[in-house]
Amino acid sequence: MTSTRPLAAALEPDTFVSRHVGPSAAEQQAMLAALGYDSLDAFIDAVVPANIRFRRTLDIGPARTEHDVLAELRTIADRNMVWRSYLGMGYHGTLTPPVIQRNVLENPGWYTAYTPYQAEIAQGRLEALLNFQTMVMDLTGLEIANASLLDEGTAAAEAMAMSYAAKGKPGKETYFVAKDCHPQTIEVVRTRAAARGVTVVVGDAATFTFGPEVFGALVQYPATDGAVRDYRAFCEQAHAAGAVVTAACDLLSLTLLVPPGEWGADVAVGNSQRFGVPMGYGGPHAAFLATKDEYKRMLPGRIIGVSRDADGKPALRMALQTREQHIRREKATSNVCTAQVLLAVMAGMYAVWHGPEGLTRIARRVHGYAKALQAGLERLGFHVTHEEYFDTVCVEVGTHGQQDILDAAAARRINLRVVEPGVLAIALDETVGAQDVLDVLSAFNGGADVDATVDALLEEADPRFDERFARTSAFLTHPVFSTHHSETEMLRYLRKLEGRDLSLAHSMIPLGSCTMKLNATAEMIPVTWPQFGQLHPFVPPAQAAGYREMFTQLEHDLAEITGFAAVSLQPNAGSQGEYAGLLVIREYHRARGEAHRDVCLIPQSAHGTNPASAVMAGMKVVVVGTDQHGNVDVADLRKKAAEHSSQLAALMITYPSTHGVFEEAVKDICAIVHEHGGQVYMDGANMNAMVGLARPGDIGADVCHLNLHKTFCIPHGGGGPGMGPIGVAPQLVPFLPGHPVVDVGHAQAIGPISAAPWGSASILPISWVYVKLMGGEGLATATKVAILNANYTAHRLRDAFPVLYRAQNGTVAHECIVDTRVVKAASGVEVEDIAKRLMDYGFHAPTVSFPVAGTLMIEPTESESKEEIDRFCDALIQIREEIREIEAGTLDRADNPLKNAPHPMTRVISDAWAHGYSRERAAFPSEFTRERKFWPFVGRVESAYGDRNLVCSCLPIETYQLEGAAASLAQDTN
Ligand SMILES: *Cc1c(COP(=O)(O)O)cnc(C)c1O
Repeated sequence: MTSTRPLAAALEPDTFVSRHVGPSAAEQQAMLAALGYDSLDAFIDAVVPANIRFRRTLDIGPARTEHDVLAELRTIADRNMVWRSYLGMGYHGTLTPPVIQRNVLENPGWYTAYTPYQAEIAQGRLEALLNFQTMVMDLTGLEIANASLLDEGTAAAEAMAMSYAAKGKPGKETYFVAKDCHPQTIEVVRTRAAARGVTVVVGDAATFTFGPEVFGALVQYPATDGAVRDYRAFCEQAHAAGAVVTAACDLLSLTLLVPPGEWGADVAVGNSQRFGVPMGYGGPHAAFLATKDEYKRMLPGRIIGVSRDADGKPALRMALQTREQHIRREKATSNVCTAQVLLAVMAGMYAVWHGPEGLTRIARRVHGYAKALQAGLERLGFHVTHEEYFDTVCVEVGTHGQQDILDAAAARRINLRVVEPGVLAIALDETVGAQDVLDVLSAFNGGADVDATVDALLEEADPRFDERFARTSAFLTHPVFSTHHSETEMLRYLRKLEGRDLSLAHSMIPLGSCTMKLNATAEMIPVTWPQFGQLHPFVPPAQAAGYREMFTQLEHDLAEITGFAAVSLQPNAGSQGEYAGLLVIREYHRARGEAHRDVCLIPQSAHGTNPASAVMAGMKVVVVGTDQHGNVDVADLRKKAAEHSSQLAALMITYPSTHGVFEEAVKDICAIVHEHGGQVYMDGANMNAMVGLARPGDIGADVCHLNLHKTFCIPHGGGGPGMGPIGVAPQLVPFLPGHPVVDVGHAQAIGPISAAPWGSASILPISWVYVKLMGGEGLATATKVAILNANYTAHRLRDAFPVLYRAQNGTVAHECIVDTRVVKAASGVEVEDIAKRLMDYGFHAPTVSFPVAGTLMIEPTESESKEEIDRFCDALIQIREEIREIEAGTLDRADNPLKNAPHPMTRVISDAWAHGYSRERAAFPSEFTRERKFWPFVGRVESAYGDRNLVCSCLPIETYQLEGAAASLAQDTN
C-alpha cells in the first residue's frame, strides 16, 4: 500500500484497521466531499503544516490481524514465569473474585467510562468510589479519604507535600522517613523532596528526636521487614514539635491491628492492591490517602462526596472541584489528574464482596499461616526477628546458608526476599495454603520435605496480637458491606451500578483532549492473562523475560512514533510524565553546571497539570500569552525567553495546541527556547493528531509524554488507570528515571518517580497490541481519519455554534472548540445547561470550559462512524433549536428543557409534572432516544450544597430518610 491509495488500509479484509477506524471508505468520501476535498491525502496536506510533516511510513511493521497479534503476544507472555512470590514490599498475591474480574475488570461498561465530571451519568462508579473511600477511612481509622492515588510511593510523596503545606515554612523544611519503609517508597519521596528543597532524613523511628526543623514524618505499618511497632510515643513527640505523621500501611493487616488513626497518625497512605487487584508486575493498583478532617482541604487527588440533585434526592459527585489542579495551577501542591478509578472500584468491591467478617477471616488465615511458618522455622533452628508481625516473617539465616535457602526455594519456584545479607523475609498472602507453607519450610530444610503438618505447627503458635496492637474497633459497618455476599446479590449490585453510568458501550464520548477512542477487545484480553497479572514487580529479571521483551518492542515503537532516542515506561499517568520529563531537564542542566536554570515558560492555555508539574519539579512558572487565534503569542514568548534567558530551563507546550489548531510557528518556538539555553517539553496529550504525520522529536521538542490511555487505547477506566511514558532526545537519555530495587539502566538517572520500575506494566500490552494491529500505515490512517472526523464535526456545527479557533485555511486539528457563549445573552442558557441537556439525548458532554470558559471542546476520534457523529451533531443542532425557542419566548427562560436537564426517569414518570413542556419532549427529544434511551439516574447535581456539607463516606440509611428522599431511593429503578 502506498500513500497514494490512502484508503487501502481501511479496505484490507483481514486486518484490524477497518475495525478500529469508524467511518467506512464511503463515509470518509462523503465527509471529504462535504469539506470540499477529493481525497484524504489532499485534505491532510491542507491541515498539517508542510514544515512539520513526517514523510515516510513509521517503521513499526505492517497492519496485522487480531489472532496473529494475540498469538505472538501469547508466546511472549509465556516467557514470563509465574512463581510464588513472597516478596512483600507492598505487593501481594491476591484472589480476584471471578464475579468482579468478569463484571468489572473485563467489562467495557466499567472500563470504557470517562472520569465522572458529569455526575448525573456517573452515579454508579461514584457510589463504587464512595465505597472505596469508606473502606479506607474505616480501615485506617481516619476521617476522610480520596479516590484514589497512583501508587504507594507517590502517595507517600503526596503526603509529604501535604504535610509541608500544613506545617512547613522557612526553617521547618525537614522530613523524617523511617528506614524500615519500603525502599521504593523512600526513594520516590526523596526524589520529590529534592526537587522542592525539602531535606529528607532517613533513620530509626525508635531513636529519632523531633527538632523544630521537622514538619513531618513517614513510618511504615507494618514495616517493610514485617515488624509491627508502637508509634504512639513517636506521634506524641511529632505533634509536640508541630509535625504531621504519615503511616504507610497495609489495609488487610488493619482488620486485625489498631489502625493508624487510633494511635495518632494524621495521614495514612498505602496500596489497595491486595484487595483483589493482580500484582501486574507493578500496577496498576489504587493507592489511597486518608487524613483527619482538619486537613481535608489539602487532600490531593479526587474526592467523592454526597450532595443532592435538583429534586432533593441524594446524589454523588466529585467534591471540592475548585481545589483540583485545573484551577489551582501553579498554586497546586499535587498534579494528580488521571488516577486509578477502575482499580479503586475493584478494591472497594472486594470489600463489598467479603465484608468485615470475610476480610477478617482472610487476614486471620494469612496471619495464622505466617505463625505456623514461624513455628516451623524455629523447629528448624532459625531465629525469627520480630515477635509482632502480620504476614511477613523476618528470619535470620546468616550469610552462609542464605544462598542455599534461596536456591532451594527457587527449585520449588518460590521467591523470597533478601532484606539484608543474612536476613530473609517471607510475606504470605491470601493465596497461600498449607502446602505453600510446607514448601517454604523445605527451602530452609536443605530442600527436603519437613516432617510436620501445618496443623501441628499451629498448635505451637500463638496467633494473638499484644493488646497494644489488637484492633477492637468495628469497621465496614455500613450495610453495603454486608448485603452482597451471595454471587447473585453481587452480580445484581454490579449491574445496578453499571446501569447508572454512560460509557463507550452506549455512545460516543467526545471529550476534547481526552481522546476517548475504541478500546478494542483484542487489546484488553491479555490484561487478565496470569503471565502478565501474577508477576511481582521485584521478581528476578529472568522471570520477567516476556515483559522485558514487550517493553523493548514498545519502547522502540514509541521512540519511532515520537522521533526520540529513548523512552521511559515508568510514569504511570500523563501528569507523572510531565513531572519526570521536567526532572530530567533539570538534571541535564545541573550536569552541565547550570543548576540555576529554573524558569519554566508555560502558555496560558496549558492544561492545569503543566504548571502543577513544573512547581513539583522545583521550577518557577512564567506564563506566556496566547493570541486571538489561540496560538502561542510568539512575540511574547520571544520577550519572556529573552528576559529569563540565563535562568531559562524549559518551555512546556501542547501540540497541536489545546485550542485544537496546528500552529505554523511551532518550529520557531522550539528554536527560540533552544537559543536561550532551554529545553522544550511537549505535552503529548494531543498525539492523536500527529501519530504517523508528524513527530515531536523532528519538530524540535526534547521531551514528550504520551498518554497511552488517550492515544494508545488504554481505556479510561472511569478516571484511570493510565500510563504516561516519556520519550527524550539523545542528550537527555542518561537522566531517565532509575529504580532502587530493579536495575532499569540510565547512567545518571533521576530517582524513581513511580513505585514500580515500569509503572503500570500490566496495561502496557494494550498499547503494544494496538500498535502491532495497526502497523505504520494503519496508525497514520487513524490519525488522518481523526482529523477528518473533527473537521467534519466543526463543519456540521458551524451554523449552530461558531468554531472558536481555526487555522488560516479554516481547518482544525483533531478536535474543535465550539463557542456556546453566543447564546447566553438572549436565552440565559449556559454551557452547563447544554452539557446536561445532551444527557437527555443519550450523550456525554464534550469537555466543558477547557481551555476556554463557556465553550465545549469536541474530539470525535477516528473510532466514531459518520453515522454516530451525525447523530451527535444532530443533537447539538436540535439543542440550538431549543435555545432559539427560549430566545423567541415560546419556551420559558427559567422552566425549559435545558435548565431542567437532565430529566431522570423518576421525574418524568411521576404523577406530578409541573413543567411548561411535555414529558415526552423532556425524555425523548430525538427519535433515537425512543429506541435506545439512556436514563440519567439523578437530576442536576448541586455541587455547592455538597461542598458546604462535605460528606465523603457512605451515608447511613437514616440520613437519606432525613433528607426526605427515602421514597426515591426505594424506587431505585435502574
Ligand atoms: C490529559 C491531559 C494531561 C494529564 O494527563 P493525565 O494522564 O490525566 O495525568 C495533561 N495535559 C493535557 C493537555 C491533557 O489533555
